[in-house]
Amino acid sequence: MTPFQYQRASDAAEALTLADAGRCRFIGGGTNLVDLMRQNIEAPAALVDVSRMPASIEEEGNGGLVIGAAVRNSTLAAHPVVRARYPMLSRALLAGASAQIRNMATVGGNLLQRTRCSYFYDAAGSNCNKRQPGAGCDALEGFSRNHAILGASEHCIATHPSDMSVALAALDATVHLSGADGTRHVPLVDFHQLPGATPDIETMLRPGELITAVSIAPSAAAAHSRYRKVRDRSSYAFALFSIAAGLDVADGRIRDVRIAFGGVAAKPWRAHRAEDALRCEAPTRDNFLRAAEAELAAANPTEANAFKVELARRTMAAVLGELAGARS
Ligand code: SF4
Repeated sequence: MTPFQYQRASDAAEALTLADAGRCRFIGGGTNLVDLMRQNIEAPAALVDVSRMPASIEEEGNGGLVIGAAVRNSTLAAHPVVRARYPMLSRALLAGASAQIRNMATVGGNLLQRTRCSYFYDAAGSNCNKRQPGAGCDALEGFSRNHAILGASEHCIATHPSDMSVALAALDATVHLSGADGTRHVPLVDFHQLPGATPDIETMLRPGELITAVSIAPSAAAAHSRYRKVRDRSSYAFALFSIAAGLDVADGRIRDVRIAFGGVAAKPWRAHRAEDALRCEAPTRDNFLRAAEAELAAANPTEANAFKVELARRTMAAVLGELAGARS
């Protein structure tokens, strides 16, 4: 590991001041960044620890929540308002990693997790455009069972590993940012970037910018929602496919539906085509399957992960069917 300086900030203003001097990274729970530093994939000259910043979950007048970036994943999953009004978020958090990691990991750090592509982590022996732009991508002709089927490019087919982010995408969450130029709010669905020709650029964060909070708003679909994660083993594994879905049905028609996929793209994949296909339709299995097919028509899998297309189609229909059945 490359030597680095370490400083601790007590709030966002102090963090931005401390981070103003050179090649610096903010660190929350460190559950991904420390691994990357140990492998010499990341080598910041300085760390500013933001894990001790105020970690509040504030309820707004409309029932929405403003969740501090330093809130631990386990705290957020257990929050009574999250469990009652945003069950897909609570379930997504509990589907991630282990209890020990959830006790350490923060909301801000979870958003900034980097891919678990094994070639990305193999700095000594593999070519990776994300780690070293222009080096090539060994996953394209290699082991790609866990890789992307949507939104990938010829330069990178990695997936985003976060479960929490998938639920936040379905909930239309907003990311609160603070930097030298002031504060700004960004829709979570725009926060992560698809790889294109620059897979090393993973988010729209500017240099020195800090995630301070994430906000979510209530809805009937958010309250009637769930998260399903399909993986090779039942715990402590990343998703082959996951779905965060919420459904609001009135008078036998779908009034609102929220769907986001995980494990299929370099970002949480909001399934807008599927949602458009379902609004005002009857909540039937045939309609759920047709909507999944509309979303997955753009899929471009490798030979090794072609199974994900059918896995996604069936899982989406099953989860929405469960929500529709639970509603009636
Ligand atoms: Fe690197 Fe992306 Fe290729 Fe994995 S898929 S080796 S992260 S460029």
